[in-house]
Amino acid sequence: MQNSMMHMPLVIGSLADHAERFHTATEVVSVETTGEVTHTSWGEVIGNARRLASALEMHGVMQGDRCGTIAWNTRRHLEIYFGVSGGGMVCHTLNPRLSAEQLVYIVNDARDRVLFIDRGFVATIAGLIDQMPTVKMVVMMGARDEALALQLEGMVFYDELIAQGDVTFKWPKFAETEPSSLCYTSGTTGHPKGVLYTHRSTLLHTLAGNSPDGLALSARDTVMPAVPMFHVNAWGIPYIAAAVGAKLVLPGPKLDGESLARLIAGERVTLALGVPTVWLGLLQGLEATGADVSCLRRAMVGGTALPPSMIAEFRDKYGVDLVHIWGMTETSPLGTVNQLLQKHVELPPEDQAERRLAQGRPPFGVQLRLVDSAGHVLPHDGVTQGELQIRGHWVVDTYYNKDRSALTFDGWFDTGDIATIDPDGFMVIRDRSKDIIKSGGEWISTVELENIAIAHPAVVNAAAIAARHPKWDERPVVIVQRHLRMEVSEEEILACYKGKVPSWQIPDRVLFIDNLPLGATGKVVKARLRELYGDVLMP
Ligand code: ADP
Repeated sequence: MQNSMMHMPLVIGSLADHAERFHTATEVVSVETTGEVTHTSWGEVIGNARRLASALEMHGVMQGDRCGTIAWNTRRHLEIYFGVSGGGMVCHTLNPRLSAEQLVYIVNDARDRVLFIDRGFVATIAGLIDQMPTVKMVVMMGARDEALALQLEGMVFYDELIAQGDVTFKWPKFAETEPSSLCYTSGTTGHPKGVLYTHRSTLLHTLAGNSPDGLALSARDTVMPAVPMFHVNAWGIPYIAAAVGAKLVLPGPKLDGESLARLIAGERVTLALGVPTVWLGLLQGLEATGADVSCLRRAMVGGTALPPSMIAEFRDKYGVDLVHIWGMTETSPLGTVNQLLQKHVELPPEDQAERRLAQGRPPFGVQLRLVDSAGHVLPHDGVTQGELQIRGHWVVDTYYNKDRSALTFDGWFDTGDIATIDPDGFMVIRDRSKDIIKSGGEWISTVELENIAIAHPAVVNAAAIAARHPKWDERPVVIVQRHLRMEVSEEEILACYKGKVPSWQIPDRVLFIDNLPLGATGKVVKARLRELYGDVLMP
């Protein structure tokens, strides 16, 4: 049948065009790696993105070539997002906190042709470049700097590169199913695996993920992603902000509580996004600075479970509504967002807070199900726990460079999370399958044990792990990081569990540690804690 409606490909270039044409003057604020704060606009950002795409083309970079970035959240990184993908190349964000060995592995696996790096990474890359044979051009994301130029022969400077480019450059035309960006999972087990997003998956994630019961950003928002741009495209915020014309605040390398508190107050941020450790830090930063963050209305929290005590603290002290979201690199990342239903609106705040602890409901475009270990589909009754599987328009099918699909025989992606789903569709993550504690054949949720410890005022953060046990196979041990200058004993923490969990789930030990080990994306590395403390209960 003849096409009755226009077909316009869903491509990132069209997002850039829209931001440039309809939100030209809307501000983009960036904390640079030098500490300087710059104020530009969507118009300037997209102009520079066009210059970059045309300059890369002049340097022989071809469509489909991977261009790596090792960089914090800054304006130049944003320009690279749009210039590289808009120009038909693949924006491959690398996590700067990876080990040298992992960086080399990922650059070679991706066959990156260009590397864009922040000034702080020049020495590292100079030491590794001989092991990265596919990289033909390294671009330092800044103005020319003679001292840095001496560290890496042939290094190009971003500002000089884009000065060669054409601000009127038109995005090339290609199919929406072409790849746009690439992000590797952090690979806590085995080698990291690449997820290659397409223009279509990114645009659908942008449109559906920003629905009113999704992230719900608008042109009246000032949004600050305190989640790195190297971690699943900063949860899609750069694209969503471009689509709706939100003012964007890019916080640069410093995500400590005091820096964020000042930035939120100074730029009048209305919505911010990050992992719980960032928000725990912000609470301390707010105490320390006394910054006026009355502008901040919502904060999106994901990556690990939202500790319940945080909801009340942000709501009561600062009037901030914490919204829980769940997702993973393989899901672009939005899998669920927790927004209330009509029937919850009149509930008292405590009951609402209870509902908001769930990880949320899927937006249109993704579906969830639970299965048991034999693959049988389980009921959505809010009680039955099972392995969480997902499918949808922005969910991985096959990892980059792999020939076998990552999906089950019937087309679902197994998340590795253990969850329940209630009849209204609210999903609750009970644990990751590799973290859950199996005590005498019964499961104990580490998330629940952690939340109880974190609610104690002297506790900054806590992690529950499975420690080996001669009788029960595994028993819970909680590792606690205390506030500086605050005292709390093992007995006091253990007392918090009484009446909150069945007595057999109460941890066997509470251990204190100065700093919990955090991985590259700010999550506690439980595998490391198991190595260190997995045998504390053994004779
Ligand atoms: P990594 O494996 O490096 O942690 P991801 O960032 O893709 O990679 O993490 C995805 C995982 O993070 C999910 O499978 C889930 O276990 C966890 N996660 C993400 N958001 C939440 C959340 N809101 N609550 C609990 N766990 C979460």
